[in-house]
Amino acid sequence: MDSLTAHADDLNPDAPIEIADRVWWVGHYLEGDPFQCHVYLIEHGDQSVLFDPGSALTFRHTLRKIEAVTSLSNIRYFVCHHQDPDITGALPLIDQLVCRPDAVLVCHWRAKALLRHYGLDMPFWLIEDHDWQLDLGGRLLKFIFTPYAHFPGAFVTFDAATRVLFSSDLFGGFTEGFSLFAKDRGYFENLRPFHEHYIPSRDILQYALKSIQEEPIGMIAPQHGSIIPEHLVPFMIKQLMNLDCGLFLMSRQTTDIKRLMTLNQAMKNITQTMILYRDFQDIANNLLGIAQELLPALSLEFYARTAEGQVLHLSPENRFRGRLSESLPPALDAVARDAQAGSRRVFHDLHDIDRADPTIVVPLATPGNGRIDGMAVITLAAPLEDSDETEDIISRMVTPLQVAVERETIYRTLDMERQRFYETSIRDPLTGLFTRYYMQETMTRLMGIQDRDPNAAIALVMVDVDHFKGVNDTYGHGQGDLVLQAVAGCLQHDVRPGDLAVRLGGEEFAVFVVGTTLERARDMAERLRERVAALTFSGPMVGRGITASFGIALRQQRESIDSLIERADTALYEAKESGRNRVCLATAMRAADPETDSAEVA
Ligand code: GH3
Ligand code: MG
Ligand code: MG
Repeated sequence: MDSLTAHADDLNPDAPIEIADRVWWVGHYLEGDPFQCHVYLIEHGDQSVLFDPGSALTFRHTLRKIEAVTSLSNIRYFVCHHQDPDITGALPLIDQLVCRPDAVLVCHWRAKALLRHYGLDMPFWLIEDHDWQLDLGGRLLKFIFTPYAHFPGAFVTFDAATRVLFSSDLFGGFTEGFSLFAKDRGYFENLRPFHEHYIPSRDILQYALKSIQEEPIGMIAPQHGSIIPEHLVPFMIKQLMNLDCGLFLMSRQTTDIKRLMTLNQAMKNITQTMILYRDFQDIANNLLGIAQELLPALSLEFYARTAEGQVLHLSPENRFRGRLSESLPPALDAVARDAQAGSRRVFHDLHDIDRADPTIVVPLATPGNGRIDGMAVITLAAPLEDSDETEDIISRMVTPLQVAVERETIYRTLDMERQRFYETSIRDPLTGLFTRYYMQETMTRLMGIQDRDPNAAIALVMVDVDHFKGVNDTYGHGQGDLVLQAVAGCLQHDVRPGDLAVRLGGEEFAVFVVGTTLERARDMAERLRERVAALTFSGPMVGRGITASFGIALRQQRESIDSLIERADTALYEAKESGRNRVCLATAMRAADPETDSAEVA
């Protein structure tokens, strides 16, 4: 095979050419015709196969070449990959020449519907009735359906023995002169116009290419152009995968078809984004990217009404976590009322709003009731022309945007409800530690006792996991939760009865140590720090450790809980600033802090 391609230029088109083991080219070179039609023969005793026999123009020559290899009467199967005259025109002639009664015409039923009009005696052998394969006795041919490429019933044949794919019109090309083998990647330029003109669309081409890629192709023998040797196969497939063809060629730049394709792609991307991503920030960033393919969009933000009638603002400024307010900004409110009143405009200019860049707002109506419960605000690099096209683009994006926003609003509302519930509960469901709410109640009581008994000292140890966001981002929220549970486990291990371990929120914890000194509290914090740093994890986080930073404050007489927390927090901040994974002590309270009811100075 290699020596063949190396001497491709010396091949003689007047004789049959063996392109693979007992696979012969038996076509006929038509002088000066860029549309060469190849015929291939698998010589397999009296079960031989002829592919795409040819037409009245060429069959006389093909017959001569067949006879040089084997006798025509040895051919039992005449495979027609599609029904075009350049491969079937010779069938009436063949029908007269072939006298063996078991000879058959192999094709798809959609080709049969047309080929039967030749009125042949030879019976049809339909590939779909034979499980898409033909066993020649020790040699298996697989038929692969490549519908609409370019004929509805088109298929190709894979010869498992030689790994030759008889590809029919796929991989066809226009050639100058007789050039049976493609020499290099440059040959793609011969494939390109053929596919652009003959394959109806890229989707159809991609479907066919994906189907044939399941086979270990060693050579592609198309009906037109040149044979593609193994080393060029992946390249040609890759290039064809991205080729725009068929209907696309009918359109000039920016006409309907191209726009429709861009839009369809955008819609596909939006759907993908909605399926793939859970985090609204990711969704919003992807949606912005998609919008930027169509519009000069700079940024995207959303407003949505919650079930309680508040307004949730999801914007890059609040990292799409959402901020609640009582009402929409006035300019948006006007648009919402307009849209609710039945305005059919899909977007509104917001030139009256105090923004540097041109901005449009797209009302998002809830399907079913048509209520305007959401708004997408798009900041643009340049003002939009109010054309039919822009309207069309935006109106198509409304539903997916509405779904994204509605979904996020529901999540956020649930989150807020959970938060409210959490705020009034005693135990944190994730870690089992006490909640802030419980802390507030209990500590108020304990502090009252301390104020009457100066020996009942209270220290607060504040704990914050280091770089915890990185854990979530790298390993996911589930692993993050496990880390929080493990840290909580360390706290519980070291607290004594009477002490109070609290989850303040997120990855922040506090331990109130009762009846202690600053030194003892520091020793405890140091033990805790080591325990956290020694934590090991299994699963995705195996081998990965974590650390936490600590801030300690000793409560002074009459100091409020807020002031105590604030001082411990400042110490914690220092621990973070000075390198994390360490314990820092708070300085004493300043005198006459108006925030507190304390008058004492330590
Ligand atoms: P630093 O070292 O400065 O403390 O950095 P950090 O990443 O730990 O701090 P940051 O405050 O930026 O991140 C805290 C993260 O904790 C952000 C938030 O998404 C996450 N978080 C809050 N609550 C939970 C929870 O219950 N479970 C999980 N998995 N993550 C949470
Ligand atoms: Mg942290
Ligand atoms: Mg934090």
